[in-house]
Amino acid sequence: MKFVFFGAPGAGKGTMAAKAATAFKLPHISTGEIFRGAMRAGTPLGLKVKAIVESGGLVSDELTVELVRDRLAQTDAQGGWLLDGFPRTMAQATALDSFCPEDYVIDLEVRDVKVIERLSGRRMCKGCGRIYHTKFMPSKNPDTCDDCGGAIYTRDDDKEESVRVRLENYRKQTSPLEAYYEKRGTLIRVDGEGDADSVWSVLHGVMQKLIDRT
Ligand code: ADP
Ligand code: ADP
Ligand code: ZN
Repeated sequence: MKFVFFGAPGAGKGTMAAKAATAFKLPHISTGEIFRGAMRAGTPLGLKVKAIVESGGLVSDELTVELVRDRLAQTDAQGGWLLDGFPRTMAQATALDSFCPEDYVIDLEVRDVKVIERLSGRRMCKGCGRIYHTKFMPSKNPDTCDDCGGAIYTRDDDKEESVRVRLENYRKQTSPLEAYYEKRGTLIRVDGEGDADSVWSVLHGVMQKLIDRT
């Protein structure tokens, strides 16, 4: 089964996709995490995208599409996947259609006020990418990851100026995809406003039903 996780920055896509990956044994493919990994490792890809990612801009469609096409061609993705953070533009959506169309798009609906509250407290592990929140999902120790002991940091693009740019980009370039998938009949809306346990409990049920149906 092939799921796209869709929603505003901060809606909870990464958090929910990580839970779904474990529950349904599907690879969690996050373009943001691929870019951040490349930046940390200082690879040519990382150096190329660093400035744009940190400022909150979108990496070019050409580069992003190629990266996803290669990733989806790998062995572990042949039985299905969870795409988190892709597609983000109409060009990316049509590219995905051409090489590996989704079965369903999970649209996590969260209002702007909540999204901003979530982004402003988001923390991330440098080692494993696990996502925390200072208030809503704190780590046991504020500086180290519960899972791997890695250092916990604030993403450069979660600073106020970049958040503004990202929400603007989302509105202009990404939110029109909702209508695109709705028209196709693959869009599944899920209320993402509750606490993480409640959202996950609803989402788990929704995904299980979709999987059972096929
Ligand atoms: P968010 O938590 O805001 O959903 P992500 O971790 O998905 O953020 O992405 C972080 C950054 O990586 C984006 O702001 C953008 O710079 C880049 N990025 C991720 N996915 C894409 C994509 N599909 N197209 C272009 N840029 C992307
Ligand atoms: P996205 O991938 O859509 O940008 P994340 O999964 O990174 O979103 O979540 C954004 C922030 O909100 C993180 O700090 C995360 O811990 C927190 N978060 C995620 N889901 C919830 C929820 N249902 N309630 C409260 N906080 C949440
Ligand atoms: Zn970790």
